Order: sequence, then C-alpha cells, then structure tokens
Amino acid sequence: MILPGSTLGILGGGQLGRMFTTAARTLGYSVIVLDPDPHGPAAHFADRHIVADFSDQHALEEFGKECAAVSTEFENVPADSLRFLAQFCTVRPSAEAVAISQNRIAEKQFFTDHGFPCARYAVIQSRDDIAAAMRQVGTAAGLPCIIKRSQLGYDGKGQARVNNIDEALRAFDDMGGAPCVLEELVPLTLEISVILARGADAQIAVFPIAENQHCNGILDVTLAPARIPDNLAEQARRIATQIAERLNYCGVLAVEFFVVADSAGGERLLVNEIAPRPHNSGHYTLDACVTDQFEQQVRALCGLPLGDTRLLSPAVMVNLLGDVWGGDIPHWESILTCPQANLHLYGKREARPGRKMGHYTVVDASVERALALAMDIKEKL
Ligand code: ATP
Ligand code: MG
Repeated sequence: MILPGSTLGILGGGQLGRMFTTAARTLGYSVIVLDPDPHGPAAHFADRHIVADFSDQHALEEFGKECAAVSTEFENVPADSLRFLAQFCTVRPSAEAVAISQNRIAEKQFFTDHGFPCARYAVIQSRDDIAAAMRQVGTAAGLPCIIKRSQLGYDGKGQARVNNIDEALRAFDDMGGAPCVLEELVPLTLEISVILARGADAQIAVFPIAENQHCNGILDVTLAPARIPDNLAEQARRIATQIAERLNYCGVLAVEFFVVADSAGGERLLVNEIAPRPHNSGHYTLDACVTDQFEQQVRALCGLPLGDTRLLSPAVMVNLLGDVWGGDIPHWESILTCPQANLHLYGKREARPGRKMGHYTVVDASVERALALAMDIKEKL
C-alpha cells in the first residue's frame, strides 16, 4: 500500500488531472503533474508541475523517481512513456492496457478476440482498403458508416459520417491519411457507460450505470442511474467487468456502450470504446456517490481498499462547453441559487466553442425530476 503522505504523479493536467489532484490531496498525498501546458487546469492545484512533453525521457525519469506511483488522465500518453516510467515507480493502469485503448484498431481487435460485442467494422490502413471496407461494413446494404482515426481522436474529433466510397475517401484524406477504422452507423436507442475500478488485488467496484446524451459528438448530459431494464444493466456490468479482467486492469476504467434494438424486439449492447481513466460521464459521482471516481482512482493507484460506489441520489450532470459563454459570462446564479445543484468550473483561461469548461450536477428524487431541473437551469444560463 502506498500510504497518505507519499507523492503521486498524474500524466496530464486537464480537468481530469485537476480532479485527481484534488482527490489525492484530500487524502493527504502530494501530487506532481506532468503536462506540456503551463496553464492547464491541474497546474495550480498540484504541489509541483513538471512542464514537459509526455515523451521527454529526462523529465519522465525525474517524475518517476519523485513519485511513488503514477496514473494518467488521458489515453494518448505514449504507451512507451508508461513502460519507461514503470522502471522507477508503480504505474497504473499498465502500458499494455493503455496501448489497447489508445488505438482503435487494437481496441476492436481486443473486443473481437475476446467475444465482446461491437459494431461491424473494417480496418483501413491506406486508400486502397476503402472500397472493400465500405462493401464489407455498410454500403452494400445501403447503410451509412462512420470512419474514425485509429489514434488521437476525442470528443467526436477525428471521425466523420460517410454514405459512399467517395465520401469515405475524402474523409480519409481530410484526416491526414492515417490508419482508420470504418464502423457501421448503428441505430442506437441509447448510450450508456459503466465506470468501474479494479484494485491491485483484483477486487472490483462498479459505479451506477450512466445514461449519456451527446450533442455534435460531444457528451452533453449524463443521467444516473441509466433508465434501462435490469437485465441490460446486469449485462453491461458483466461485460465491463470481463473487459477489466481480460486486461488484467488496475485503476479506473470506463466502458462506453451503445444500446440497439435487436430483431426480436428487445435490446442489446454493443461496446463502443474504453477509456483507461475516469470519464466525463462519471462526473456525477462527485456529488451523488459515497466515493467519487477520482478518489477511487487514487485508491486503486495506491492499493487502498476501494470505496463504496453507492448512489446517494439520482443525478443529472450537464457539461458546460465554451459555447455557453457566447461573448458574455454565463448567469452562474441560476446554478448557485438552486439548492440541488453544484457548479464545477475547470479554471480554463479561454472559452472556445466545443471546449469543456466545467459542468454542473443536479440531484433530485428521480432522474426525470433532476433532468427537468437541469434543463430549466440550462435555459437560464
Ligand atoms: P469521446 O472522446 O467523447 O468518447 P470519441 O471521439 O472517442 O468520443 P466515439 O466515442 O467513438 O468518439 O464517438 C462519439 C459519439 O459519436 C458516440 O458517443 C456516438 O454518439 C456517436 N457514434 C460513434 N460511433 C457510432 C456508430 N458506430 N454508430 C452510431 N453512432 C456513433
Ligand atoms: Mg466515446
């Protein structure tokens, strides 16, 4: 066990790094952030900020030697950097698990190898693969597809919907000709996510399932608990747990699912993607669960017993994107005067459209009531 008083490291100084830092310091740890941006949200919260690139070996060595354990706030840290760091300190999750989740081709291969259900897909390494991929995945049946860069996509960036080979070629070129996956566009009825923690001792704690609504490819609203039947919830928890086990995972893991109607009139799950870290759809846990996802990340990293994931109240989380500013400071009173709402702002200097600036959470006796109140607040912002 890495006890309070020790120094922890976090790769990445964005909002997830900031919330990790807050949780770690609340438990009595010191925190060092490594991130190239000197003004990132976590920078001023940490005891120390090493301003360096994620592949700067000199900086990584210093970081690894000063920290008892290191975790990551995002999946695009080079897996080699995690491998390098592991010479000096505990690194959780492992380079191997992060390597899979940072590469959609490897991730899809992992899902299919282990029998986890996912949307039909084909790998595109070069332009020459596109026609066959389109035939294999969609257009033969007249179905639209979605082309996604294998690496470095987030918040719907690095992907495009395509209806035919010409559109696919154009999208592939626009994304720089890097390897991609082509997926069928599934007729989803709902999106959900399961966030869990798996400790070094293989103990697993699963958070209540989140129901997610996206807008322009970016998460907009999360409802917890998700409004899905028990059997589907059970299935989602089982799949997420098995993924964590197959990865021999240690840390907080998020698994995104699509809910699609099946031919028998029921519903089934497809795994969309995994994230080797706390997830935007788990921010509601900060205000609505006994233990939140960032404290859980600290506990798993340090080998402490995992916390209770129980939901204390139905909750709705709404993301605050830069768009909300629209030239003017939003009317925070509408959140601050609501006794059931909590405001979280990430301290980013510039509000740009599509940029995640903060979020708020509303709790109420039912998710429907929390949602109505949250939308009412949004109107007034
Ligand atoms: P994030 O970082 O926000 O998770 P991302 O850029 O990694 O996003 P995805 O999760 O793959 O991208 O896709 C973003 C959203 O686009 C999904 O949550 C879903 O709403 C929609 N989407 C993605 N793939 C499909 C698909 N095959 N069929 C239908 N909708 C899809
Ligand atoms: Mg996603």
